[in-house]
Amino acid sequence: MKVLIQRNPIFSKCSSCNSVGTLHKSRARGAWEQFVKKFTIFKLYRCKNCGWRGYKSTIILTTESLETLAIYIALAVVSGFIINFVIKRFIS
Ligand SMILES: [Zn+2]
Repeated sequence: MKVLIQRNPIFSKCSSCNSVGTLHKSRARGAWEQFVKKFTIFKLYRCKNCGWRGYKSTIILTTESLETLAIYIALAVVSGFIINFVIKRFIS
């Protein structure tokens, strides 16, 4: 099952001017940007066209995968309740 789809933001649209293929990786400036770059799925990008600079995530959740994920969470919650019920009813 594939929940997370990795994508390359270089091929996605610029958030500011909506042009495609103008984004390129930008160097992190300062501690905060380095932190975000290292520990999150967001990377810094810069638009060659309009000069926009900001974060783009490198991983996206598809609508289909979100539904699957919701089902998995629901199942986990339900089985948690059942286990909890069984333990309380039969063990204590
Ligand atoms: Zn742009």
